[in-house]
Amino acid sequence: MEIKNFTEKMDHAQAFIEAKFARFDTSGVSLHIKYTRAKGRDLNGYYRFADQRIVVAVKKRLRYPRRAAYGVATQATARRGLSSRPYKLIWHEESFGSPDDLLVFAAGHEAWHYLCHSGQRKGDFETRANCNGFMWLGEFQKWSDRAQTVESIPKRPPRPDVTPIGAPDARGWVQGDLFGGY
Ligand SMILES: [Zn+2]
Repeated sequence: MEIKNFTEKMDHAQAFIEAKFARFDTSGVSLHIKYTRAKGRDLNGYYRFADQRIVVAVKKRLRYPRRAAYGVATQATARRGLSSRPYKLIWHEESFGSPDDLLVFAAGHEAWHYLCHSGQRKGDFETRANCNGFMWLGEFQKWSDRAQTVESIPKRPPRPDVTPIGAPDARGWVQGDLFGGY
């Protein structure tokens, strides 16, 4: 896999992302790290199937720490009328301490789309991509450097609102997945 970092910053996040990508098959994939000028959002990204390119971008000059929330699950609701949706989105909020934190979250999100597209994981939903992003973020916030190995990617990333990221029992919760709990 080829990585191009156009920001010349966020080396720590880049090293972590490289270590994570080394845990699955990324032959033919390229990752571009950029700044975004998108208004009203901290980060941006996409996975393009045609040329297997993942682009992740964060906004320059944000203030840290900053809190941001992303949808992690949907919940069925009683439909009140034709116009109302049959489900509502459940949000999860975390504190991001640096541009590196934002970048790792975005990369975890886009990595999930790539994994599903390439048949390595199932469940290509925005909410699940966000759960994977939160999982990467939690691990990254405790990660020191390349000498430290990184976790593989579970079949289904845990919901951060159910088990807080980085909680001691997080791994046990993932194993619980095998028994049909979630
Ligand atoms: Zn997405």
